[in-house]
Amino acid sequence: MTEQVKKLLDKSNLIDPFNRHITYLRLSVTDRCDLRCTYCMPEKMTFLNKKEVLTFEEMYKLCSGFIHLGIKKIRITGGEPLVRKGIMDFFEMLKPHLSSDLEELTLTTNGTQLHKYADELYSNGVKRLNVSLDTLDKKKFKQITRLGNLQDVLLGIQAAKDANLKIKINCVALKNINDNEIDDFINWCIKNDFDLTFIETMPMGDIGNENRLDHFLSLDELKKNISSKFGLEDISFSSGGPAKYTRIKGSDIKLGFITPLSHNFCSSCNRIRVDATGVLHQCLGQSNSLDFRKILRDPNSTDADLFENIRRSIKQKPEKHSFAYDFSKQRIEGKIDRHMSLTGG
Ligand code: SAM
Ligand code: SF4
Repeated sequence: MTEQVKKLLDKSNLIDPFNRHITYLRLSVTDRCDLRCTYCMPEKMTFLNKKEVLTFEEMYKLCSGFIHLGIKKIRITGGEPLVRKGIMDFFEMLKPHLSSDLEELTLTTNGTQLHKYADELYSNGVKRLNVSLDTLDKKKFKQITRLGNLQDVLLGIQAAKDANLKIKINCVALKNINDNEIDDFINWCIKNDFDLTFIETMPMGDIGNENRLDHFLSLDELKKNISSKFGLEDISFSSGGPAKYTRIKGSDIKLGFITPLSHNFCSSCNRIRVDATGVLHQCLGQSNSLDFRKILRDPNSTDADLFENIRRSIKQKPEKHSFAYDFSKQRIEGKIDRHMSLTGG
């Protein structure tokens, strides 16, 4: 057997230098978005040129390589994945992998286009999705997203529910913006049977005149408040991701807390991210990366080269991110230049 064939057949697991098994890929299919959330991007955002973004054929080849080497779960994200033209064709391309090595295909969306796509997503193998929603107040929704209509998202969520998609709501906790409606928000999730995860704002990319620190809310505080009002019980559930889960007493919903700034959650990290240009980021909060677009567009590059580079990228995964919240100086440390909308949440 030649060395090249051996490399092609080798399906040994993807294990990083800190003995973490990497089984989860988040793929950003576009950096574009129909909203302009204040904590995510500036009002006048500059987007990538089309030729910089991987084609769906290139993304498919990359995903297939990762699945061959042990990736079990793929989350499609962005920017807003559902605004990319042809996105349902891409889900359809990936669907056959669900009958072999891929265990889950899922999506993170802002929900504005869900009313159009919920049924098709389900028939293409998506069974669960994360919808980002930070408020149930239509004025605040406009204030946070600059361009959005709350009603569109609520209609989308209803369509997803009707299509039997299991929904988790992601909510960025924002001091002096949505912290006074947390109880209503939780009650709404209980009523609708949606799991709910709160997220701390991360210092990723320039956001123009906005200051993230002004609205940074430590989830430790939030959790204490929720616990005193609703009663929380710790549960052993783990999605393999960064959220720590609890259950609200007397309900079935799981409540998660993603605390990149107030607590480092990296020891159990099982994921890598590929941005819309094909650059793999080994860690959301570090600048280590490997450019797969170059490899995918090189006419001399073989499948064996692709596999070798996937393995190499995992060997370069850093131990942890460098975000931190310096409480004494009231400062966020470790800012990353790229936006979350490029890398995908
Ligand atoms: N557009 C889709 C959406 O909003 O769900 C997918 C991409 S968005 C970048 C993914 C997630 O990242 C969303 O839940 C969003 O709230 C979150 N996010 C964006 N910028 C963030 C930041 N700077 N800190 C924390 N979360 C952020
Ligand atoms: Fe768009 Fe999602 Fe960023 Fe909001 S958080 S601007 S919806 S990419």
